Amino acid sequence: MNKNVVVVGAGINGLIAAHYLRRAGLGVTLIERAAQVGGACISEVATVEGHSHKYALGASVLGLMQDFIFQETGLADRLQTYVPEQAKRVHFPDASTSAWIYRDPAQLQRELADKWGERGDAEGFRADEAKVVDYLQEGYRAAVPPSLDEAKLRLGDALTRLWITGSAADLLDHYFTAERSKIYMAMTVTESGPVSLQEPYSAFTMPLMDSGSIFGGYYGFVKEGIWRITEELAQINRERGVDVRLGCKVEGVDPGRGTLHYQQAGQGHAVAFDHLVFATDPLSAARLTGDSGMVHKVEGKRTLGTSGKLNLFFRKPVRWKEASDHPAGDTVFRFIFSVESIADFERSTLRVTSGETDYSPGFIQIYCEGASMRQMGMVEPFDRLAVFFKNMALNQRGEALPEVEAAVKAKVMSLIANPQDCAWARLLAPRDLQQLFLFPGGNIDHTVLTGGQTFFERQFSADPAQQFYQFGSWSNVSYCGAAAYPCGSIAGTPGYMCAQQLIRHMA
Ligand SMILES: Cc1cc2nc3c(=O)[nH]c(=O)nc-3n(C[C@H](O)[C@H](O)[C@H](O)COP(=O)(O)OP(=O)(O)OC[C@H]3O[C@@H](n4cnc5c(N)ncnc54)[C@H](O)[C@@H]3O)c2cc1C
Repeated sequence: MNKNVVVVGAGINGLIAAHYLRRAGLGVTLIERAAQVGGACISEVATVEGHSHKYALGASVLGLMQDFIFQETGLADRLQTYVPEQAKRVHFPDASTSAWIYRDPAQLQRELADKWGERGDAEGFRADEAKVVDYLQEGYRAAVPPSLDEAKLRLGDALTRLWITGSAADLLDHYFTAERSKIYMAMTVTESGPVSLQEPYSAFTMPLMDSGSIFGGYYGFVKEGIWRITEELAQINRERGVDVRLGCKVEGVDPGRGTLHYQQAGQGHAVAFDHLVFATDPLSAARLTGDSGMVHKVEGKRTLGTSGKLNLFFRKPVRWKEASDHPAGDTVFRFIFSVESIADFERSTLRVTSGETDYSPGFIQIYCEGASMRQMGMVEPFDRLAVFFKNMALNQRGEALPEVEAAVKAKVMSLIANPQDCAWARLLAPRDLQQLFLFPGGNIDHTVLTGGQTFFERQFSADPAQQFYQFGSWSNVSYCGAAAYPCGSIAGTPGYMCAQQLIRHMA
């Protein structure tokens, strides 16, 4: 294939798309606005008490990537990873109800019954979810766009209704009886944005978020930090002959003529393409094509994000009050809920949508990045925790919300025996995500994972049946950023599926 493809955006999706297109023999130019690759998967350096230390500014944990992508790209040969294998720890306001989330479904069933009075079917939940996940993973590998007919054929009507088209509330009521089990499982539904548990298709977020295969549906870490994925992938791409151009802000494209215009160091440049792939947020893509209908359509999407991220450094390794004896017990994922009922969970999720409050406590997810680095043999000046939490409004930047930072920190520190060792913190709010990473409404998936924006509707094509990843009605333009199926995250699945569709089309 003697054709030239230009990919705009060197985040995970642009890098993966460029990789597979180049492997197929296409000429590939990858154009990135920033001075570095990575998009929302980058590091930043904080200098604290005389030590300079890197931390993950955007994404921190790896898990939704498909193992074949990790292997085929060559990342597996160059990066070391670590996955905490012990049960996760869940805390509720009533401390006596803290529970362990075991990997083994039968052990989990017993723990939930014991701690939360669960009388439902946790084992059945996991078994049915595994069927849906298998189906999704097969689709990713074959790069087959999602379709409800196909889902019904493979899973049957009942599972499709429960796990794909239905509401999270119905799914949870089907398998669980205890409020706390439902709250814990509902956590993934709101990770992307403020989705009501009653909304159609809200159930689908659960199997979707467990459909990574790199760690069998679990989440883990990359040695040094997750940003090594995008850094290394850019290096692999360069070695394979991808022309990576940094510091180049695309200012307009003319799909009719097959020309793209960009600015680099104050100079205007043009580059010709046979095919153009946008791996940016969808609003930038729409604006760059100058297609007002497309801009209008994208502006009508739900893009509100409600996640805050707090990075913390500690002078000495964090000591957990409830530590396990396991040698890697300090790497356990911990979740703190501020609500005890599913109704309060729902209220808290939806309260920030109107902007009536800056922060409505929901849940806090604690990822022990520094402890995991120690498991991979690293010696660092600070221990680090990556803390994701809900629910923040889009109103303010993190630095303007010291009271939110203090409230979240206090909850995290209540689990830690040496809070006095905390030396540094940085809060990012959805407004920061909007400004730092160009995420239109601060949503980490670029658009919310909700009805009308998920499964077969997670695309921007005028002809999704034939060209799922096409952008609008331009047959020579595709879109594969985080707002395309299946979703965002450090997975690159949209980039892979889009590249495969394009390769088939151009062959
Ligand atoms: C705070 C935070 C925490 C997160 N945590 C996790 C996590 O722990 N695990 C996980 O899996 N995911 C996480 N995510 C989500 C994940 O980071 C994103 O879904 C993913 O990085 C999106 O990748 P992408 O390639 O689609 O887009 P992006 O990473 O947004 O990349 C798009 C690229 O396009 C470039 N671009 C835009 N406009 C132009 C232009 N005009 N010209 C040239 N270039 C342009 C941008 O500069 C950018 O580099 C997190 C996100 C954030 C913000």
